[in-house]
Amino acid sequence: MIIVLHPKATRQEAEEILQQIREKELKPLYMPGSERTVIGALGDERRLGELHLESHPSVERVDPILAPYKAVSREMHPEDSVVKIGDVPLGGGGFAVFAGPCAVESREQFAATAAAVRAVGAHGLRGGAFKPRTSPYSFQGLGLEGLRILREIGDETGLPVVTEVVEVADVEAVSEYADAFQVGARNMQNFRLLTALGKAAKPVILKRGMAATVKDVLMSAEYIVSEGNAGVILCERGIRTFEDGTRNTLDLSAICQFKEYSHLPVLVDPSHGTGKRAYVTPMALAAAAAGADGLLVEVHHDPPSALSDGAQSLYPEQFERLLRQVRRVRQSGEA
Ligand code: PEP
Ligand code: MN
Repeated sequence: MIIVLHPKATRQEAEEILQQIREKELKPLYMPGSERTVIGALGDERRLGELHLESHPSVERVDPILAPYKAVSREMHPEDSVVKIGDVPLGGGGFAVFAGPCAVESREQFAATAAAVRAVGAHGLRGGAFKPRTSPYSFQGLGLEGLRILREIGDETGLPVVTEVVEVADVEAVSEYADAFQVGARNMQNFRLLTALGKAAKPVILKRGMAATVKDVLMSAEYIVSEGNAGVILCERGIRTFEDGTRNTLDLSAICQFKEYSHLPVLVDPSHGTGKRAYVTPMALAAAAAGADGLLVEVHHDPPSALSDGAQSLYPEQFERLLRQVRRVRQSGEA
């Protein structure tokens, strides 16, 4: 339910209502706005009826949230939310690009790639320490050592770092070393992991599962936000279709849907979305034109030597061109 307070309602009156919601074992959300305060109540809505808030003197109206996802819905929060990774804001009109190799392979490899992407204007670094791979015989990542390298290079470059967390047992360690968690496509509906991340203190980039609908993604985001972690960023990374000319089919219309149904920031990953280096920049430009809030892009200082996803990793010069062209696309949309 959304409880819209009268413009003159005080913070104290809002607090009393929040307390009543808590006493009914519902989760309250406090959303002060420039004109009026809105309060959300999440949980069994029949209990809320017992409070008769519609006749409370500080309440203007009580509206149901029709979407099955509540806290992440546009109905609950009409303005775009802004989520910060380190000092980098996502959402709210800017465009943030996180770039780096698929996996942290060694200190030298990650340092070289990080320096290259930083030099041309990346806002943050990506790199997997735990690598869930299709084949158990493929490189599985450096684990804790990878997290340490990620943090060190993040500190040396002054850029925030994001990395994937694959299981509940690793949440604490990843939280210690990274500035944001990444939930991979294969774990998008790992509800135990999502619930654990909902209790964590760092933002979460939630990647779309390869067979997940937009609404499935939003329900997964709801798992995180309803546990108290409002810092969720959605990420379109391609879905499985009958098309096999690309690794996945990058669903750019998902950007429009995410923006219509939710207030959360939206990133696009054109690397996993296509699987082909030559297609990454065109899809990145299309994502920028379609209203994405930023990109997650794989770049490697020496793609032929990459231990994973070399075929879709950009050379640093290509990444520099991508950023230049993205800037132009965004300027042309500003008229
Ligand atoms: C990744 O970003 O490294 C990754 C494994 O992506 P996805 O989960 O989208 O396949
Ligand atoms: Mn990858």
